[in-house]
Amino acid sequence: MKIQFVDLNAQYNEIREEVTEAIQNVIKDSAFIGGKYLKQFESNYAEYIGTKHCIGVGNGTDALHIALKALGIEQGDEVITVANSFIATSEAVTNAGAVVKFVDCLYDTYNIDIERIKNAITGKTRAIIPVHLYGQPVDMDPLLELAKKHDLRVVEDCAQAHGARYKGKNVGTFGDCACFSFFPGKNLGAYGDAGAVLTNDDKIAKMARMYANHGRFEKYNQEFEGVNSRLDGIQAAILNVKLKHLERWTERRREIARRYDEGLSNVVVAPKVLPDVRHVYHLYIIRINSRDEVKEKLAAAGVATGIHYPIPLPSLKAYSYLGHKENEYPIAHSLSREILSLPIHGSMKDDEVSYVIEKINGILT
Ligand SMILES: *Cc1c(COP(=O)(O)O)cnc(C)c1O
Repeated sequence: MKIQFVDLNAQYNEIREEVTEAIQNVIKDSAFIGGKYLKQFESNYAEYIGTKHCIGVGNGTDALHIALKALGIEQGDEVITVANSFIATSEAVTNAGAVVKFVDCLYDTYNIDIERIKNAITGKTRAIIPVHLYGQPVDMDPLLELAKKHDLRVVEDCAQAHGARYKGKNVGTFGDCACFSFFPGKNLGAYGDAGAVLTNDDKIAKMARMYANHGRFEKYNQEFEGVNSRLDGIQAAILNVKLKHLERWTERRREIARRYDEGLSNVVVAPKVLPDVRHVYHLYIIRINSRDEVKEKLAAAGVATGIHYPIPLPSLKAYSYLGHKENEYPIAHSLSREILSLPIHGSMKDDEVSYVIEKINGILT
């Protein structure tokens, strides 16, 4: 058997006709930039998450950058985020002109350690970016309390957490604004780059929409310089189709996670899920000592796996100028040596899941 890490073709086969029709409609109407399909998606997605506004943008990285700009983050400001994420999170901070301050994560949930955020706050800190990593919500109550106490803005990085819930509410509704990625492999993925900024705040929404579109509301009356980062009509139409299936695919991911939990509990450390959250398993992470060896053996058995992420952000060459040492982020570094991401997606078949479980048990017992 060959088990792919993500199988976008299997998903396409489930929705082929709907997607083809949706794309043809955009072309027929020439609704490529802006237009009714974009409006429909923005309205549908805001409703799905539970915010007043959704602004479609070019990708998730831009969404973070635009959100920080819309909040007025400037040169010299400091923004706190977690040491274990994809570089997009910290890149957006630097590209907005601010300075990124990394905080280590927790060993059990892999999410940002809120206690350690306290030590990272200085007089220059303006915002925190919690990342709902792998699809599990950050423990938002203490984070929001801390942000309020220090008058900090909160930008949720929801790139891996479409439909994840914390105490009954979708992530993306807690911060001043929230950023989603619709990169093809994400839980809700376009057929190219796409992203969105969500907020309940009218002013932030207006600023984000203007910044993403050359600083304008009217065609030739630009009020400031922004960027060109828009969600195009074809991607919006595809996302509209896929949004209707998202809950089903998410439930499938959760079902697969339950099967992994049960089938692997004797040989690996399974993900720890907080009480009162809905984890949407963008990634299913196991922890093992002999990670590299297991990864190789699984590859030989036809099972593709991943490592998210092999190098904590502060240790990337991109951040060597910050001069961080490994012992500043001990948890992120330990995890980077032990974590392994197993195949999981909404169209994965039962026999594929069983095969992965069987191979891992075979290797580790
Ligand atoms: C994917 C991802 C992003 C960036 O999204 P793009 O659409 O690829 O730009 C940001 N943050 C996290 C945590 C991600 O996983």
